[in-house]
Amino acid sequence: MEPIPKSGFFYANKIARITITALENVMGKNGVNAILNLANEHNLIDNYPLDNLERQFDFADFSSINVALEEMFGPRGGRSLALRAGRAAFAGALRNFGALAGVGDLAFKVLPLQAKLRIGLPAMARIFSQTSDQYSTVVEHEREFIYTIHRCPVCWGRKGLDKPVCFVAAGLLQEGVKWVSGGLEFRVNESHCIAMGDEVCDFVIQKEPIS
Ligand SMILES: [Zn+2]
Repeated sequence: MEPIPKSGFFYANKIARITITALENVMGKNGVNAILNLANEHNLIDNYPLDNLERQFDFADFSSINVALEEMFGPRGGRSLALRAGRAAFAGALRNFGALAGVGDLAFKVLPLQAKLRIGLPAMARIFSQTSDQYSTVVEHEREFIYTIHRCPVCWGRKGLDKPVCFVAAGLLQEGVKWVSGGLEFRVNESHCIAMGDEVCDFVIQKEPIS
């Protein structure tokens, strides 16, 4: 695999650690080792990023892992594993950042559904913006929220693609709104992707849960 040039933008070690651990939960230790090998990230094998908030995990390394998933399992297989890993990563994110977001409070739990989404989604965006170089924002429309990643580690350094590829992020959002809503499933679609030549990566989250 062609290495992706370093970006100079970083995730906190802890976020990378949560994601790689989630990948291990989904595909097993041997699977993750094979992916890290293919991604030219041999140094990470049995040596996951530290459990701290230092901004040291380059976006290019994060993107490489996603490319390796597609290379090894094909676009469809890679997509489904990335979605599952993103969903699994949410549990780790919640454990580590839930208090920061203020979404575990009793006052939050009694809010109506739309209010929960209106608070929960920007809280997720804020955590990424505050702890990493991934700047994210949320805009509300009549029937949906648009969650925008302005500088995206998932597809960093990729271009010329004809389909969006930021499935880890989509999975994390899916699980995030599920948790925020107390267990409902929502449709989450990536509508714009920097790897397709778009300015930003946009995720459309329908306000009405899937019945
Ligand atoms: Zn992206």
